[in-house]
Amino acid sequence: MSVLEELNGRSGNACELCGATSELNVYEVPPVSTGGIDGSILACATCIGQVENPETTDANHWRCLNDSMWSEYDAVKVVAWRMLSRLKSEGWPKDLLDMMYLEDDALQWAKATGEGLSEDEKIIHRDVNGVILQNGDSVVLVKDLKIKGSSQVAKQGTAVRRISLDRENAEYIEGKVGPTLTVIITKYVKKI
Ligand SMILES: [Zn+2]
Repeated sequence: MSVLEELNGRSGNACELCGATSELNVYEVPPVSTGGIDGSILACATCIGQVENPETTDANHWRCLNDSMWSEYDAVKVVAWRMLSRLKSEGWPKDLLDMMYLEDDALQWAKATGEGLSEDEKIIHRDVNGVILQNGDSVVLVKDLKIKGSSQVAKQGTAVRRISLDRENAEYIEGKVGPTLTVIITKYVKKI
């Protein structure tokens, strides 16, 4: 069965956000890492269009989240959380957001696109798998790394403890490889 067919079955052929029954399509909830039915929702063209184009967001359309935020599916809850976060200055979305409950994994997924954050908070560091990195995390190198300014190479598999994030650039972190403090590219590390 295709993902579309599975989602049609799961949703009863209706938009999982607003309940519309026409122009339905698969929306893969970014960042897409799992894919498949667990990483996707069935949504109508109106919902998908507004999710993807924040400037076209019509707050009233999203009153539907009043119901769909209680979905049993994480992918639906994640999109609901993001839209409520985007709209929270309207007041009522903030109230709904406060009532929502997401498990830690789902909440981290919901936050992964930076929705609802101000521009300067949007610099999000992610490892090779898309997992969010924070100051003080430990990572392991997934690729050999040349240490800048030396002939040293840190081997793949080397652990780097207590990293710090580059506040200006989401692609860089800093950490000590042996005694040397060096800049590391986030896509070459995996959080441990
Ligand atoms: Zn819809």
